[in-house]
Amino acid sequence: MASSTGYTTPASPSSSEAAHSLTSSLLRARPYRFATQVATVDNPDPSHKDQYGASSVPIYQTATFKGMGGAYDYTRSGNPTRSHLEHHIAKISNARHAFAVTSGMGALDVIFRLLKPGDEIIAGNDLYGGSNRLIGYLKAHGGVTTHHVDTTNPKSLLPYLEDPSHNVAMVLLESPTNPLLQIADLEEIARLTKRYRKDAIIVVDNTMMSPYLCRPLELGCDVVYDSGTKYLSGHHDLMAGVICCDRDDVAKGIAFTINSIGNGLSPFDSFLLLRGVKTLSLRIDKQQANSILIAEYLANLGFKVNYPGLKGHKGKEVHDRIAKGPGAVLSFETGDVALSERIVGSTRLWGISVSFGCINSLISMPCLMSHASIDPAVRAARNLPEDLIRLCVGIEDPADLIDDLEAALLEAGAVRVVDEGMGGRARLERIVQDGEGRVVELANGTLQGEEAHGAAQAKLQKIITSAPGKVILFGEHAVVHGVTAIAGAIDLRCYCLAESRSDGQLSLVLPDLGYSQTWDIASLPWDKVGALSSTVLKSGPKSDAIPDQELLTLLANQFVHQDKLKAVQAAQAFLYLYLHLAVSSGIKPAQTYTVRSGLPISAGLGSSAAYSVAVASSLLYSHGILPAPASSPSADSTIPLEHANMVNSWAFLAEKVIHGTPSGVDNTVATLGGAIAFRRAVKGREGSMDVLKGFDKVEFLLTDTKVPRDTKTLVAGVARRKLEEPDTINPLLTSIQRISDEAQACLSSTTLSRSEQLDTLSRLVEQNHQHLVSLGVGHVALESVRSKTKEQPWGLATKLTGAGGGGCAVTVVPDGFPEDKLTALRAALANSGFETYATSVGGRGFGVLIPAHASQLETAEGGVELSASPQQKRFEEAQTEELGRWAEEAGVWVCA
Ligand code: PLP
Repeated sequence: MASSTGYTTPASPSSSEAAHSLTSSLLRARPYRFATQVATVDNPDPSHKDQYGASSVPIYQTATFKGMGGAYDYTRSGNPTRSHLEHHIAKISNARHAFAVTSGMGALDVIFRLLKPGDEIIAGNDLYGGSNRLIGYLKAHGGVTTHHVDTTNPKSLLPYLEDPSHNVAMVLLESPTNPLLQIADLEEIARLTKRYRKDAIIVVDNTMMSPYLCRPLELGCDVVYDSGTKYLSGHHDLMAGVICCDRDDVAKGIAFTINSIGNGLSPFDSFLLLRGVKTLSLRIDKQQANSILIAEYLANLGFKVNYPGLKGHKGKEVHDRIAKGPGAVLSFETGDVALSERIVGSTRLWGISVSFGCINSLISMPCLMSHASIDPAVRAARNLPEDLIRLCVGIEDPADLIDDLEAALLEAGAVRVVDEGMGGRARLERIVQDGEGRVVELANGTLQGEEAHGAAQAKLQKIITSAPGKVILFGEHAVVHGVTAIAGAIDLRCYCLAESRSDGQLSLVLPDLGYSQTWDIASLPWDKVGALSSTVLKSGPKSDAIPDQELLTLLANQFVHQDKLKAVQAAQAFLYLYLHLAVSSGIKPAQTYTVRSGLPISAGLGSSAAYSVAVASSLLYSHGILPAPASSPSADSTIPLEHANMVNSWAFLAEKVIHGTPSGVDNTVATLGGAIAFRRAVKGREGSMDVLKGFDKVEFLLTDTKVPRDTKTLVAGVARRKLEEPDTINPLLTSIQRISDEAQACLSSTTLSRSEQLDTLSRLVEQNHQHLVSLGVGHVALESVRSKTKEQPWGLATKLTGAGGGGCAVTVVPDGFPEDKLTALRAALANSGFETYATSVGGRGFGVLIPAHASQLETAEGGVELSASPQQKRFEEAQTEELGRWAEEAGVWVCA
């Protein structure tokens, strides 16, 4: 209902009306969500239809209205454009009454006029400077005294509330405060105040939050006002204030004052504010997401940052209860006023300006600007640091905001480059100075840089890596004893998505193993992790490096789901790498790592190596040790070999954590792709690894018998037999070496025809399988697969692959083998309870995804927005067999 001054929500419909609307449609009865409400302007008085059906509320730029007894007569008392705005503000604030006035201070002035001489106010001690100025005026001219208390502690109001000699008529609160971002428990303070002073008016300056993030009336407060100049308008093109309340007596007093003094908002500014407010939730979502990234960036550099989005911010729990988000204002201290002035003066993108809430980012020093009206002694008494820098974050690209801030920090001498780092990245370190500007300490720094988007960027991006599984074509088991193994990458892969988060936590999610765990980064056993030498950091751990058993034992106690052995081993390897890379790189990225397996787990297809390689590469990128590939790769972009080697050596360490004594062949294939001949180093002889150059892709059918087995036990069993029955086992190993040699020669041959190559391959497959059975790692299920594939009309050669004792079998599929025949074979195998995968051997090594659309990168940079992206949902929830297609569609893979 439009009133002469302000808007009052009509009484709710009678119960029969309500019942009618419910029966008409349940869906229609459902209230709109905030984003819908704020974007949709309704007519405050449906009986007053716009004569032309204007979609946008017209500006009634008139002082007077003709006639007598109409809804409006004089714009000081009421104006249709202002009524629309006030109706809209009441709606989005869930308030009974709303008023629009000429500024935020105008709003507070109107509210203060509810008081009379002799009344007392209890107010916070970190109030907006303008509010303090008005309070001073009120004391001198209105006989109203104010007691400033620490509102972060509700009990600090009690001395005034409990003592009847204090005539407490109003409580004035802000949360979070500006600029220290202190949190007041509005709900608890309202409850306490009402207990002692039923009639006192609890007033909240909600400018920092806006009705999108906090609605104090719902928390028991009486009057809420916002400087509409800020988030409600969003564009710094008008001054306005809005007031909301539910109490009719209070509304009556406010309406009287506005009409009497004439500070109702003008029609033109009402129009502008109504236009601006429609995008409120959209703007705040983006501004907030940017703020989180910037707050983390500064906190990582060691600055004291005030922001309720940061873990550890005092009162965060209270804030999270009373508000929907941390907002987009933060402040930080540099330790030196002159330094702060230099930083503020050196920024280019950040506008030096008072105020906040605009779509453009602003930087200021409150003590010199917005809060300069507070006496310096009072500022000191209220712990308002003179060097404080306030950042009001806009909707720009966060990478540009961080780049500009970083340039300003460097120019001002707040940080310095201590290490250009590998791959062109620089490590920044904060310089702490004494009062005279002398460097007294170098605080802990973080990796930041320039390249591709710099490490800051790398930290903001989501990173998706992947690595292939492998089949051992020849030489499994024997490889442990120094025999050559021939292995090739398959096109079933493992994928790792690393996504930044803002709460100081680290998560590992393994949906395929039904496992997920989150660690508080600060509480990981950092004191047990030694920094790596610079050579290890440059090229990765040596191949003979042994994981630190003491640390592994300590880590073993960190896991929930102790019953899920595979997941726990995977998590142990992950944490082991994370800790070492963090200690050495100087950053401890808060991230969620989600790893999906597109290949059967524990089936002898190198799923753990694919996991180790995908995770190791992801961690190396996340820690800024490897530079992420360029965001627009050329068609032939590949990962440089030295980066691949680095990934391989870390993955090998992870494999050792998982398996004890792996040969290294799996992780090497998962890293490099293609096919290799691999010989591990044994006593008295060096290891070797030859890439099979001429190797062309070969099609294989993989059959998972689904018979579980334990690789460690099988490997140990062969080793034991070698010791106990050398005369049986050693000739078998020699024979396998001959098979591998022949296979290597055949697969690299330039003289043999393709069909001769495939025939040789089939013959060697048969022979090698028999040797493996003789080594004692066969299984009846594997024999059943073999006999099925050998049957006519198929007639194909099959061997077990990997550790045997169950697991997978591999069948050579000659070129041109009819598709329908293969389908029939797969159906026959499926009939026996086996799962088949048609794959080729010899594909690409580990890779990094460059998303197909720039917008995907955009969302990634937004950090928090990523979690809502359909792409991630698809990644986490996709069926295993869908992962390959998903990966192909997601973008370009730059691979080793
Ligand atoms: N409240 C807060 C928290 C503010 O920051 C400001 C202005 O900066 C105001 C109130 C006053 O608003 P206005 O400038 O619209 O009068």
